[in-house]
Parts: sequence; C-alpha cells; structure tokens
Amino acid sequence: MICDNLGVAENGHLTFAGRDTVELARKYGTPLYLMDEEKIREKCRIYLTAMKESFGENALPLYASKAASFKQVYRIAKEENIGIDVVSAGEICTAVAAGFPMDRAYFHGNNKTDADIEYAIKNDVGCFVADNLEEIDAVDRISAELGTCSKILIRITPGIDPHTYDEVATGKVDSKFGSAIETGAAEEITKYALSKKNIDLYGFHCHVGSQVFDSDVYFKTSDVMLKFIAKMEKEEGFKTRELNLGGGYGVRYVESDPIIDIAENIALVGKILKEKCDELGIEVPAIRMEPGRSIVADAGLTLYTVGSVKQIPEYRNYVSIDGGMTDNPRFALYKSDYTVLLANKINAESDFKCSVVGRCCECGDIIQENVKLPSSVKRGDIIAVLTTGAYNYSMASNYNRVPRPPIVMLAKEREYIAVRRESLEDIILNDL
Ligand SMILES: *Cc1c(COP(=O)(O)O)cnc(C)c1O
Repeated sequence: MICDNLGVAENGHLTFAGRDTVELARKYGTPLYLMDEEKIREKCRIYLTAMKESFGENALPLYASKAASFKQVYRIAKEENIGIDVVSAGEICTAVAAGFPMDRAYFHGNNKTDADIEYAIKNDVGCFVADNLEEIDAVDRISAELGTCSKILIRITPGIDPHTYDEVATGKVDSKFGSAIETGAAEEITKYALSKKNIDLYGFHCHVGSQVFDSDVYFKTSDVMLKFIAKMEKEEGFKTRELNLGGGYGVRYVESDPIIDIAENIALVGKILKEKCDELGIEVPAIRMEPGRSIVADAGLTLYTVGSVKQIPEYRNYVSIDGGMTDNPRFALYKSDYTVLLANKINAESDFKCSVVGRCCECGDIIQENVKLPSSVKRGDIIAVLTTGAYNYSMASNYNRVPRPPIVMLAKEREYIAVRRESLEDIILNDL
C-alpha cells in the first residue's frame, strides 16, 4: 500500500487509520472524506523537529493551509506548535475562529485587496508575504491608518524550473507571482519596501512549485536566494532576518511515485544552506518552509458508493460513483493521478479496466482513468480514492448544486465529525 495507514482487514475490507472503511461508509454515508489525525500530527512533528535540527531553533514550518482549510486542522497546527500560511480572508477567518495564534500566520496571495489587508492587520496576522509594488503601498498606507508597522517578506521568483507540471511551476520568471531576480524587479521592490515607514522588511520568500521529490530544487533555490540576500546586504545594507523556502515536498498518489524521507532531505538542505552562508559571509536567516500537501495528503481518503457499471464494447468501461469533480476536481483540472480501490473487495483480482467517473453533467467529470477494479464491481460497492487529504475538500464546489461531503476525523482513541455534511438547506441558504 502507498501509505502505512492503509491495510486490509480479515473480511477483505480496506482499513484506514485502523478502521474498516466499509463500516465507516455505512455509518456516515458517502461521499465521505476521512482524515487520519495522527498522520497529520506525525507530519507536523517531522517538519518541526527536522527544521529545528537542520536550520536552528528559530526555524518554523508553516502549514500551507490552502491544501485543507477547516477549523480542526488549525487547532491541530496550533497544538503541534507550527505556523500556517493563509491566502484569503476566508482562511484567516477560519484560523481565527479556531483560536490559532495569528502571529504565526503568513498572508500570501498575488492580489490582496485593501479590505483583505485591513482584515489581516485587525486580526493580528503576523506577516504579509508581499507580491508586488502596489501591495507594498497598500500595506504601508493601511498600516499607517491603523497606527501600526507591518512585518513583510517579499516574494521573489528565483527563476527555477522545478521540473513538475506547468500549472504549479511558479518559480519561473514568467509567473503571476512575485518579482524576478533576473529582471531586476526583485531588487527594485526591495529598495521600495525599505523606503516605507510603516513596513518592517524581514526578508524574502520563494516557492518554486509543488510535488517536488528532489532536494536539488531547494539547493538551487537556496543558492540563488542567498546570493541575492548577500547582494542586498552589501549594496543596500539590508540584513535579511528571515528566508522562506516555500512548500512542496511530494507525496505518493500512486505506487510509482517515489518515497521521500522528509527529515533526511531537510538535513541536506540545512547543510548546503549553512555552507553557502559561510561562503557568502552572511548569517543564516531564520528559515521557514511551507508544506501543504505533504502534511495532509496521505492523511486523507475519500469513500464513494458505486451507482452503475457501463460497458461499451471496444471503447471503455465506466464506473459511476456518487461524488466526482465537486469533491475532487483534480483530475478534471490537471489530470492528477490517484490510486482507486474497491474497498469492500480488496483481495479480489482487479482485471476490469475502467474510468471511475462522477455524477456531474460534464464529460470531464472523471476521478481517474485506466483504473483496474475487480470485474464483479457493482452498484452498492464502496470505492476508495487514496491520498485525497490535500486540495480535495479545499477545492470542492457546489456545481450542479451538489452538497459537499463531511470530514470525519479518525484519531487514536476517538472518531469525530470535523466538518458536517452540507444539507439541501445549506445549498439554498444564500438564495433570496
Ligand atoms: C501551494 C503553496 C504551498 C504548498 O504547496 P504544497 O505542494 O501543497 O506543499 C506553499 N507555498 C505557497 C506559496 C503555495 O502557493
């Protein structure tokens, strides 16, 4: 199995976090998001421990909460003593409602509105990751109006192609995010921020992309960023206090994805970083990383009920389930890989090739193509899609007025509903 929280019970049912998934489907109904609380905590601890060991006591992992944003996940992040990154007033509001210490929150995004900025300052968000000149102006102006000085990092594009798929390759020069070193924009925005009275520039941020399996990307990024930092220190007398390396260690969606030892990788990055700082004669800044999917992805699993099996001779077979792109749009968006299993017949031979499709009125509503399921698959069977903890619930929609599934958390001693199932009343709540 692709993660150690999966197993097979004696009755041939898939288990997740030590529970029979078929029983959970019966108890809570489908579609159903399950989350393994211990796995989330384990990942938080791996990052926190490894980062402090490798970068020093002032290092801090920030959970990139766009991967999965709901109150309980922020409570867990708080209890595990890590920080968060947020990208909207909605995520800030959720974290505040969960009682998260907002001084450990970093506010991202390439187009923060004045209202967003004011909301963030009033809610004591610790740091703005400023994307552009207009934002620097706005943060400075609004901070002055509110009688405060805001901590910021500047988002830089180091110009590195992370060799992942284009949609998440955000560190290249051609990007809607940040300012490129290569074009001189990074230097310009740094000087600009330093000239502002109500802005306290702490340092820099970069994020080269997601689903990164190789620390090479971080070596290259550190190299480019530290050279820039050294240049700013020499030419502008600006001493960088914080460097944020972004997110992105990969997770295993399918068996062919590599296994990655996060702690080992961070140790390597730490070693390279120290060497480069020595070489350049600068102090090692406080390091931040922003893992999103690698904190929550394999802590999640989605269960569905099969509704129909359609065989089209010489073309393909379709297995329709009671969810789809409304709860997991990632195949529709960028053909993401997922492992799909028949949860109630794990031991049966899987030789029936099919597309597992959702129930939206949309041909592209596909969860996965070329899936192998047992040929006995039929209405009422339970389908499990693995590794859905990241970018599933957070990307869910009400397209076709489909209510969103609930999130049931599986902890060591208890299981509980963290997000309740949307009802039809919820669907019409805002209709006047
Ligand atoms: C999305 C994002 C992350 C997290 O990426 P993952 O692949 O989920 O780890 C981190 N930082 C920034 C700026 C992001 O946009």
